[in-house]
Formats: sequence, C-alpha cells, structure tokens
Amino acid sequence: MLLLFATTSCLGFSTGFPSSLTSYSRYLNSDSILHLKSDGLTAEERDAKIVKATKAMTAFTNKYLVNTETTLCTELSIPAVVIKGLAEHKVDLGAPLCPCRFYEDKEKEVKDGYWNCPCVPMREEKKCHCMLFLTEDSAFAGDSQVRLYIYK
Ligand code: SF4
Repeated sequence: MLLLFATTSCLGFSTGFPSSLTSYSRYLNSDSILHLKSDGLTAEERDAKIVKATKAMTAFTNKYLVNTETTLCTELSIPAVVIKGLAEHKVDLGAPLCPCRFYEDKEKEVKDGYWNCPCVPMREEKKCHCMLFLTEDSAFAGDSQVRLYIYK
C-alpha cells in the first residue's frame, strides 16, 4: 500500500490516504483499443512502476509549487488523487497526461503535449483546473509551506 502525506516544516500535522494500485483501466480510442505502455507487465510490475512514478510526480509537484509560488488545496485528498492519476498516466501512456479531463484519443493528446503536466494553461496563465497548483486568490488555497511526501 502506498501512502501520500502532506507536511509543513513548522506544523506537525499530516494526512494519509490508502491508494489501490492494482486496478487496470482499458483506454479506448474512438475506434480501437489503446495499447498501453504497461501492456505485458504483471500487476506487481505495474504497481512498482506506479510507486516510482508517484514519487517522481510528488517531487515534481513540490518543486513546481515553489517555482510557481502556488499552493496545494486545503483539502489534501485532492492533490493526492491528482498525483495518483498523473503517475498512472505516466506508466500507462508514457507521459503525465492531465487526469482531470476526458480525451477521445489519449495517444494523440500525449503527442500534442498540450495537456501533459504542467499543461499549457498552467505554464502560461497559472491555471490548473485539477486544483493541484492554486494561486493565492483561490478560495481553496492552502498553507504555502505544505509539501507532499510519500511513505511506503
Ligand atoms: Fe497538471 Fe494542468 Fe492537470 Fe493541473 S490542470 S494537474 S497543471 S495538467
């Protein structure tokens, strides 16, 4: 089981959540089955890759929060779910395609790059519709010192 926590350097609180990493999703293009990068892996192999990708996406998130002067949401289960979705896409599609959108063709979207995290709206306008990176004017913006880490 993989646990994702949030903490601050000055506060002692943390929050954790269990994450089932064993369910597969079969992605459909408009007229064909999408071939996943994780095809051919055992459940254990895929889980191991998702744990590794979750660590990478967590490290990226913590760094990007600082670089963009944004914060996590006060409800920490939101960034936890978003990071899990990004990690699953990284393993299954080869890129951290935004997990908060519907795509007719995920392979095409990955190639286009527009919605690969950090997406173009985030890079250009600091707009993250997943609420992973919030600007201070957001009603849901949390403590600017809060960072995520994972425990396994
Ligand atoms: Fe990443 Fe953009 Fe999705 Fe936010 S909206 S999680 S920045 S891809």
